[in-house]
Amino acid sequence: MDNFFQHKARKRFGQNFLVDENIIERIVRAIAPKESDNLVEIGPGQGAITRLLLQRCPSLTAVELDRDLIPMLKFKFRDYPEFNIIEQDALKFDFGTLAGDIRAGGRPLRIVGNLPYNISTPLLFHLLSFRGAVQDMHFMLQKEVVDRLSATPGSKSYGRLSVMVQYHCRVQGLFPVPPQSFRPAPKVESAIVRLVPHTAPPHPAKDEQLLERIVNVAFQQRRKTLRNALKPLYPELDPALLPVDAGRRPETLSVQEFVQLADYCETLTGD
Ligand code: SAM
Repeated sequence: MDNFFQHKARKRFGQNFLVDENIIERIVRAIAPKESDNLVEIGPGQGAITRLLLQRCPSLTAVELDRDLIPMLKFKFRDYPEFNIIEQDALKFDFGTLAGDIRAGGRPLRIVGNLPYNISTPLLFHLLSFRGAVQDMHFMLQKEVVDRLSATPGSKSYGRLSVMVQYHCRVQGLFPVPPQSFRPAPKVESAIVRLVPHTAPPHPAKDEQLLERIVNVAFQQRRKTLRNALKPLYPELDPALLPVDAGRRPETLSVQEFVQLADYCETLTGD
């Protein structure tokens, strides 16, 4: 019956379908779904991961953009009444609606997905905005992106994504996945990452939006010193008063130091 739904992978939807059963099992073992979980899968595709997830946890919502895949998924998983497909762009979807009010007994989300690589960074930022409703997230991403998520200060991969995701989550790179595990095979290496939102950030910023602005501007020109990088936002800045050495390059600052910087900037009037 699966042949009835023959599907040609679409590049514009970042479709590289997992075909390696060992890898699929390893991913699901890393997620370790429990029967009572509230699972959300982004981009179920042809259901490679979905199938194993549903065997362990019947309550699963899938968000899929490619409408041609929906009839196949509905047919494949017709025996699971709590399997729910939402035909939507995950970038625009309000994930909070799936959790209910957490403080009033809502069920936190466990989000998983072999993500379309072309939208992974904006999607990660979008998902961070629902962190209060999320228990954890497991994603397949381009290995380079997983390196950026878990990078430490001073390394080549360290940047805006590292600082902002680490500010909000504990990041754990799990294992690499080679191109041969997919059909069609992507041109890049992939890896699995686990993100667990902090109940409260270990170094809370007074103004998180300002932290984000500072981090953005700091990494726009990585080679500049902090003093020069901050000039567009604070032309009158006195470098001697910064809580960190103004001669340092932004890429050497820890998350905590970025927070100190943002908290200091919060006392200034910007442009
Ligand atoms: N989970 C499947 C697997 O592992 O074989 C498919 C993974 S494939 C890399 C990415 C999936 O995300 C595709 O099914 C694609 O149609 C879907 N997708 C692409 N862009 C999307 C978006 N903006 N919102 C939701 N799903 C999207």
